[in-house]
Amino acid sequence: MKRQATDPRIAPDGLALEALDLRRIYKVGASEVAALRGVQLRIESGRFVALKGRSGSGKTTLLNCIGGLDRPTSGVVRVFGAEIARLNDRQLTRWRRERVGFIFQSFGLLPTISAYENVELALRIAGVGGRERHRRALACLDLVGLTKWIHHRPYEMSGGQQQRVGIARALANRPQLILADEPTGELDSGTAREILALFQHIVREEHVTMLLASHDPLVDGYVDEVLQMKDGQLV
Ligand code: ADP
Ligand code: MG
Repeated sequence: MKRQATDPRIAPDGLALEALDLRRIYKVGASEVAALRGVQLRIESGRFVALKGRSGSGKTTLLNCIGGLDRPTSGVVRVFGAEIARLNDRQLTRWRRERVGFIFQSFGLLPTISAYENVELALRIAGVGGRERHRRALACLDLVGLTKWIHHRPYEMSGGQQQRVGIARALANRPQLILADEPTGELDSGTAREILALFQHIVREEHVTMLLASHDPLVDGYVDEVLQMKDGQLV
């Protein structure tokens, strides 16, 4: 189905992400580490894209600069047309909360509260009202196949189930963009395939754009496009 230009999630030119000459230099004592060295990137809306490359090639740094968790040293990042460097810290936090879903290698769940509460908390922080929070949390947990597990806590679940909770939480606020950093890094290959298939399903059905950083060769079979990073640049 072709999505309409009136869909507010789609920038007029259909670009979800754009990076122009993006650089990120870390200062470590007296020396400098150039983690990003002039990244040029264009990703169209609704695509599922993998960012591959060896450890230390700059994948996490790029994801963080795109998602507003880090600020680049120079260059431009546009996400759905918005230049995020122009936002002040408060605006950036709010933008991130409303527009971006993050998925992490180690899941990033609160261990002492249930799957349901982990998802519901993300909605609470975003200021969503009680009834809608309940409805949305259940819908997201259902989407990831955890309806029977909502009252379990992360430590009572398998790695794959915990990552499903992480995915439900990332989806809770209806983000336009999902950034996943090594999401299958702690999963066996069978479980990794299930999670990658779930991502594929979500990108199609929830109309999100997804950028996934990984060095897992399995990923290639599930994404629309593979981008290769080397020494802080896309090659
Ligand atoms: P990847 O995710 O591909 O493994 P990273 O983005 O984590 O790569 O790291 C890219 C480079 O930047 C590496 O050389 C790493 O050591 C360096 N780096 C990452 N984060 C920091 C930091 N907070 N301080 C200093 N150097 C960092
Ligand atoms: Mg990394």
